[in-house]
Amino acid sequence: MFIGTRQSPINIDTKYTSILTDRTVSIDGRNVSPVTLSYDASNLKITDNFIAGATLRSDEEVREYTSVNTHFHAPSEHTIDGVQADLESHTVFARQGRTYADYIVLSVMWVHENDAKNDSYLEAINAGGLTSTPSTQSISNVPFKDFYGWASPKEKYTYVGSLTTPNCTENVEWFVVKEKRKINSAQLLEYTSKWAGNSGFASGKGNNRILRPLGARQVHLTHGEKIDKWELASIVLFCLLGLLLFVLSGMIYYKFVYKRNKNQSNKVSPT
Ligand SMILES: [Zn+2]
Repeated sequence: MFIGTRQSPINIDTKYTSILTDRTVSIDGRNVSPVTLSYDASNLKITDNFIAGATLRSDEEVREYTSVNTHFHAPSEHTIDGVQADLESHTVFARQGRTYADYIVLSVMWVHENDAKNDSYLEAINAGGLTSTPSTQSISNVPFKDFYGWASPKEKYTYVGSLTTPNCTENVEWFVVKEKRKINSAQLLEYTSKWAGNSGFASGKGNNRILRPLGARQVHLTHGEKIDKWELASIVLFCLLGLLLFVLSGMIYYKFVYKRNKNQSNKVSPT
């Protein structure tokens, strides 16, 4: 087993997360169709067809990544303030043209809610269609663009950890979306019937790796997507123009309307 000091998953203790403003990730999903979903006992995975790109921005640099796969864990691997979610998806992104490991992983979690509407992303993936291992199915019209478009601007917990399956490579930058999605009983059963709740797999404990110590690492909270500086400059310019127009119209009103009305009322005032 890989022994390292910067392993994943971890418990995220929100009391000790500090806000990070100079490092953000934006995700650009693509509606590639069809893609292949494979089920191999321990996992359910879409082994990509370039379903998403990720851009990591910091004050120093901009890095581009492309997705390698997206897969699921039930129950979740990460916990937030000690609470485990019912389902967690990981999209692994790799930086192209690197000879060393340079990954980021986007994590999205779902919590069970009895009367939750069907999640359209999970509906299109149709995990319930695969029951024997190993098996694959072709899936079409998965709304990757909507799913990653939902995740991209959200606040995310970020820390440096590892992949959670062998060989548990380190130097992985994690982005765990703070807001959780809802999942109803029928959709959750498509995942729990494979792992958590399936006595034939790891005694029904799930396909999640156990928590690793945080150690000396720090978890930060990012403010979602960072506004591009040119975008920010155009917003400021637009506001200044609006302010200028407001002042000019006030001056015109004062000079030509208010003063004329005042003069007229002075002329007709009774003696
Ligand atoms: Zn994973």
